[in-house]
Amino acid sequence: MRFTALAELCERVASTTKRLEKILYLSTFLQKLGEDEIAPAVLIITGQIFPESSEKTLDASWKTIQRSLHSNQRSLLTRELSIGDVHAYFRKIAAVSQRKKKERILSGLLNQASQLERTYILKTIFGEMRIGASEGVMLEAIAAASGLPKEEVKRAHALIGDLGKTAFKAVIKRSLPTDITLFRPFKPMLAQTGSFDDITEKKALEYKLDGARIQIHTTRGRTKIFSRRLSDVTASLPDIVDSVRDFPPSVTEGEVVAVKDGKPLPFQELLRRFRRVHDIATLVNEIPVQLYLFDLLVLDGETLLEKSYTERTHRLGTFASSFMVRRIITDTNKKAEKFLNRAITAGHEGIMVKDLESPYIPGKRDKSWLKIKQTETLDLLVVAAEWGHGRRKEWLSNYHLAARGGEIIGKTFKGLTDSQFTELTAKLLSLKEREDAHIVYVRQEIVVEVAFNEIQKSPQYEPGYALRFARIKHIRYDKSPEDADTLDKVTELYERQFRYKGRREV
Ligand code: AMP
Repeated sequence: MRFTALAELCERVASTTKRLEKILYLSTFLQKLGEDEIAPAVLIITGQIFPESSEKTLDASWKTIQRSLHSNQRSLLTRELSIGDVHAYFRKIAAVSQRKKKERILSGLLNQASQLERTYILKTIFGEMRIGASEGVMLEAIAAASGLPKEEVKRAHALIGDLGKTAFKAVIKRSLPTDITLFRPFKPMLAQTGSFDDITEKKALEYKLDGARIQIHTTRGRTKIFSRRLSDVTASLPDIVDSVRDFPPSVTEGEVVAVKDGKPLPFQELLRRFRRVHDIATLVNEIPVQLYLFDLLVLDGETLLEKSYTERTHRLGTFASSFMVRRIITDTNKKAEKFLNRAITAGHEGIMVKDLESPYIPGKRDKSWLKIKQTETLDLLVVAAEWGHGRRKEWLSNYHLAARGGEIIGKTFKGLTDSQFTELTAKLLSLKEREDAHIVYVRQEIVVEVAFNEIQKSPQYEPGYALRFARIKHIRYDKSPEDADTLDKVTELYERQFRYKGRREV
């Protein structure tokens, strides 16, 4: 099929905000695609070039793309672009390493494309498709196009882990996998955010380790290890391969953590292990890793997805007890809190709370798994404050918060008691430099400890970050302005968040 048809489809999908209409447009389109083009088409429409698990990337810099756009190189092909052609071009660009060659191939593609086609090729390359064809929408479109039940398609997708392949199997083959296949990675089950209040009955509490999630498929003599994003990372982890040598045929899941002298190392160190292609042996010594297992999905040919947490972990313990993550079973908050403190002191990230009866649902962020982390805080400077309204009329209440150096990254009026408001108002007025439209600007002397749920990229403030749900935990009279956190620290925390969200995952 012509690439123009795909570009026009994207226009149509973008033109409506109605989910059902999007699904209808997409499913009608999917039904018309041939067996070689359905997988690449689905990837492009959902804004991907290669499947998530693939190691391939275009690896074309902004400069390369700019030059390709302005080059006058004519393509040798005169026929119109097909979906297959565009996919083949992408593969060729990824396959060459020289910048000049990448440029030449890319300009060949762009020159052959019409205006509309170019727009969508560039959106794909820049990762800016944004037409509302999310994975969820696409899965429903695949179900509609194939006539197979939605739930079956979703489940199969979690086992396949590649939207293009799922579309191919559903729409073209009309046959979906229902079970784990050894040596084929599946999407891991994920956790929701929880709190101690969720522990109302007996639950399993495990350390939440600060490493990288892995899935180990092994039969005697052969082992493959996959990352959370389903890439094959076996070659980076020869020591782990070695340590599971005696396992029965199984699929186990857990976390690898870089360690030194018994303490977990920062996640970045572990990433070096995954990134390195050559001379892995040296790194194995330099960055030792430890394996912690927390689940068992296949044992001796039997799939255990539907079995309870209790049964899966019990069976894991029969052959891998020395690798199992530290855990307790409890229904009291007090014990849970103690366990969290122990986890944090041991250098881990928090705890996981798991339902004893729960099955394992690949790809699902389910409430039967909860993560409890310690909240992050930043020590920030109060640089200005706004006069309050209503009950807060007499107080300076909306505080403008900045990292050391003066850049504002958030505002909040949350977290203080009435008497703290009164106290802080007096203090800030004594530091007043000027007042302007309800805002009092002050000398930067007061440090407050601010808790937040997330740091977001935001054009709203100059440094480009904003704190989500910021609240003041303490006024830190014991700290001087020099003790406030810098923007570098904010950047570090911002980057760290992606460990758990997957951006920085291998
Ligand atoms: P999140 O990415 O924030 O949803 O947290 C889930 C991640 O925590 C998983 O993907 C694992 O990599 C990691 N993790 C660490 N320890 C555990 C554990 N005991 N059970 C499950 N996941 C864990």
